Amino acid sequence: MKPVNCEFEAEVLAAVVEGRWPERVDAQLREHAAACRICAETALVTDAIEKARDESRAEAVLPDAGRVWWLAQLRARREALQAAERPITLVQVIAFACATGLLGVCFGACFGATSSWFQSALRWIQSQPVTGLVTGHILLASGVAALIVLIPAAYFALGKD
Ligand SMILES: [Zn+2]
Repeated sequence: MKPVNCEFEAEVLAAVVEGRWPERVDAQLREHAAACRICAETALVTDAIEKARDESRAEAVLPDAGRVWWLAQLRARREALQAAERPITLVQVIAFACATGLLGVCFGACFGATSSWFQSALRWIQSQPVTGLVTGHILLASGVAALIVLIPAAYFALGKD
């Protein structure tokens, strides 16, 4: 059975990684690596990996530090702006819903005060025994119902973020 480990393999590996292979190592180690299959393969493979790493390091182009800093500043500003816009959008949605509800209440009050058929219909509804309790607060109930419908609708219409 062939051996899978060699006691000098670690030394050969260290010499290649440190850039000492093959010129700046002991002659005995060089002679051993020439005769030992395991050490020869270790030196060959590790040298190839080191050369490939050096080539890829030389090809890598790092961007200018000033440009990296400038892009980071732009990104931070953009993120801060997005974070600041979120509550403003929510406040706008609530203000829009309140204005719409108030407009509906004002329109209902003006229409109710000036329209005679609406007044007679309201009196007829109030005369009914079942609905008498509800009609006292019909404007308030309709305003709340409008807000319940309008706030989510306006929120989704203006965007969720
Ligand atoms: Zn060996």
